[in-house]
Amino acid sequence: MKLLIKNAATHAKLLGFQEDRQLTVNLSIQDDVIELISASRPCGDFDHEIDATGLFLAPGLVDPQVHFREPGQEYKEDITSGSKAAAQGGFTQVVSMPNTSPTADNPDVVAYMKQRSQEVGICKVHPTGALSVGLAGKTLTDFKALKTAGAVAITDDGKGVQDDQLFERALINAKEVDLPILDHSEDESLSNGGAIHLGKVSDKYGIKGIDASSEAVHVARGCQLAAKTHAHYHALHVSTKASIDALREAKAQGFKVTAEVSPHHLLLCDEDIPEKPDGTLDANWKMNPPLRSREDMMACRQALIDGVFDAIATDHAPHSPDEKSLPIEQAPFGIIGLETAFPLIYTHFVKTKQITLTQCIDLMSQQAGALFNIKCGRLIQDSTADIVLLDLDNSFEVSADFFASKSRNSPFIGNKLYGRPVLTINNGKIVFDALTNQT
Ligand SMILES: [Zn+2]
Repeated sequence: MKLLIKNAATHAKLLGFQEDRQLTVNLSIQDDVIELISASRPCGDFDHEIDATGLFLAPGLVDPQVHFREPGQEYKEDITSGSKAAAQGGFTQVVSMPNTSPTADNPDVVAYMKQRSQEVGICKVHPTGALSVGLAGKTLTDFKALKTAGAVAITDDGKGVQDDQLFERALINAKEVDLPILDHSEDESLSNGGAIHLGKVSDKYGIKGIDASSEAVHVARGCQLAAKTHAHYHALHVSTKASIDALREAKAQGFKVTAEVSPHHLLLCDEDIPEKPDGTLDANWKMNPPLRSREDMMACRQALIDGVFDAIATDHAPHSPDEKSLPIEQAPFGIIGLETAFPLIYTHFVKTKQITLTQCIDLMSQQAGALFNIKCGRLIQDSTADIVLLDLDNSFEVSADFFASKSRNSPFIGNKLYGRPVLTINNGKIVFDALTNQT
């Protein structure tokens, strides 16, 4: 199969050059690799030609944190529907969390996820292995066996690790097998079974709140133990100013500490949670960590601009409409995010000139992959043909039927955004195509 993308705009930096100037290129793909990138049209015949005039060519995006729910909760999402959501969002690689049922605390579940995603063939799913057996926080898993089965990191995401000593031993073991520890930073004695951020809004509605310190205490712990063990500590979905202060300090000291932020923590705060007609709060704005105070949100924005974050992660967490229509105290935590992530960051940070387009793409590809030693993020001859074409100029509205995910739990429905991914190629194969339908 020979494929040609012609007349696409891109930046030289994304082709592996030092300078960051815009240029127009033609890119040919032979089977699953990029064959040639050139200013003029390459010679030869092609099975398929894509006219990318007016579109921006970028490497396939990488999401460091998704929940695909298979095995065990396929009514919310499965590896096929999750991969389709990823492809629609321009992602060709995702890192999946271990809180499936059964949990990915053993090599069999890890190997299953990897094999299943290869069979589906829409998006490369890199599983993580659980840090503790059954995510129960009591007994460490066999990190070496998990790595051999395909795990790219170790994490109990969905739950914070409450035992400090166990967490330190996890860092030591992870360093031995050269894997990062991804930390869902939550001290449960401080988060206290809350449903939303502890603050003005939780007070007003009489809802049990999650104190911001519950996250910062664990991020500070992670930074200190990273310094002590020299292991790679990665803070998942950072949401508070105090956590960011700890990360800034640890990074300045040169510790092996990385961190990610999610679009919702950059763009929404607790005051944005809407009231439903019955006067209660809408659980489609409920996730863990929760939407924080305005001050925390602004600190996340500043940290993104300052380069404190290494990557942007969706924390794509599908739940059924029935589950999300429960009262906010009872509804499960989490929102979907794959289909809206790039357009949200592009619209609110690149179009407004707070970060550059290449910074945005690097945060969502090369830098995200680097956390797990996944080489990606540059369109280079002979590299894997993972590509997305982005429509930066035309706006679109996020409607309920816009999503490829099985679930609809997004607080961004109704938003008008720019930067829609219109064509995604994974391993040289077109896995999402909105262009053919449009013309
Ligand atoms: Zn989490």
